[in-house]
Amino acid sequence: MEKTTTNVLIAGAGHAGAQAALMLRKLGFAGAVALAGAEADPPYERPPLSKAYLAGEEPFERMLMRPKEAWAELNIDLLRGRRIVAVNPAAHEARCENGERITYGKMIWAAGGTPRRLPAPGGDLAGIHVIRMRADVDAIRAELGGANNIVIIGGGYIGLEAASVLVGMGKRVCVLEAQDRLLARVAGPALSDFYEGEHRSRGVDIRLGAKVDAIIEQGGRPAGVRLAGGADLPADLVIVGIGIAPEVEPLIAAGAEGALGGVKVDEFCRTSLPDIYAAGDCAAHANRHAGGAVIRLESVQNAHDQAAAAAAAIAGSPKPYDAVPWFWSDQYDLKLQTAGLSTGHDQALVRGDPDSRSFSVVYLKNSRVIALDCVNATRDYAQGRRLVSTGGVCDLNLLTDPDVPLYKPPVRKG
Ligand SMILES: Cc1cc2nc3c(=O)[nH]c(=O)nc-3n(C[C@H](O)[C@H](O)[C@H](O)COP(=O)(O)OP(=O)(O)OC[C@H]3O[C@@H](n4cnc5c(N)ncnc54)[C@H](O)[C@@H]3O)c2cc1C
Repeated sequence: MEKTTTNVLIAGAGHAGAQAALMLRKLGFAGAVALAGAEADPPYERPPLSKAYLAGEEPFERMLMRPKEAWAELNIDLLRGRRIVAVNPAAHEARCENGERITYGKMIWAAGGTPRRLPAPGGDLAGIHVIRMRADVDAIRAELGGANNIVIIGGGYIGLEAASVLVGMGKRVCVLEAQDRLLARVAGPALSDFYEGEHRSRGVDIRLGAKVDAIIEQGGRPAGVRLAGGADLPADLVIVGIGIAPEVEPLIAAGAEGALGGVKVDEFCRTSLPDIYAAGDCAAHANRHAGGAVIRLESVQNAHDQAAAAAAAIAGSPKPYDAVPWFWSDQYDLKLQTAGLSTGHDQALVRGDPDSRSFSVVYLKNSRVIALDCVNATRDYAQGRRLVSTGGVCDLNLLTDPDVPLYKPPVRKG
């Protein structure tokens, strides 16, 4: 079986993996870099999967992070269709599913996560979909023609983005959320209420506190969803968006310290295994913006910035990861931009009027701004991000006045 040797092996060719490879070259790293990913496609942007790509409005080629030829031009060895299934840290060797062995000097583990399947009878039928890869959305789109009733399980960002696209295509869409509000894991009640109102006003049937008992099957496909309590909802197609399980099994099996289902890293993205770093959705880290708590972030920002930190450490110019978290979500004509982390806030103020569909929710802890959710309010977002990064102090009495800027750069003297 083939054996490859490389200076840096990157496992996973998604957001973090691709960014790590690009960053190594940007920092002048001249050694061999192999970017090994399980998917057949070159690295691509995932956010459009539940937005414009699902809507059929963005061709896949536009989602590529770099044109196909760019990887070879940068002397990055893109190994597609290579799933790494075992790591031997002592021998500095990884084994791919196809038996190929790769010897490395340093390794960056950037394998993201796998969507959780529905833990209910019928949860693995054909016609039950997730959205994580291009292939997932291609499979959904192939079935859309024959699907009128679509049930989305999970009222998080991915489920709600999919709902906004599908209701826009004229489908009957029902969103089932187990919690008592949408976006419960990531946002405060004011934002949840706003999005619930928006979706309902477009005809999305939202069921809160909904628990799925089973998928009703007909001819090997879903025909409906049975809720705890007995109600049946018609469904020709089901999309499950209930989170991911980090892809870290080979590292944990090799003895890496784990946390929160992922792999634990320090501020330079080093795992507890020698010469192995990790970045992106799979990397649990202590985050200053979460009060030092160990968290996992699932965002493009985190994938890019952690990848940059790992690459910088390997390239010999270490810089700790300390970025302000940010995120966005597109639903209908609403652009949500968030800065900071609202977990643990003790006050949430609404700035502007939600009825105008342009407003922000400002989250405070001990009278400091720790996070913002800005809906169609890009200026608040840009200023709020600065505010969060500089320590979040401002005049609390003026926070709710949308005419008063959230942040004014200090005046330079002289
Ligand atoms: C539908 C959708 C919409 C999103 N929208 C937004 C958004 O609007 N804003 C935002 O900030 N974030 C968004 N995200 C989140 C963002 O895309 C992720 O946080 C980001 O992709 C994480 O990067 P990653 O490199 O850790 O994982 P990924 O990008 O998932 O890359 C991991 C790669 O590793 C591969 N892999 C897995 N196991 C192995 C293995 N053992 N060996 C080799 N390769 C392996 C996978 O196939 C995958 O290609 C969205 C995500 C999804 C799925």
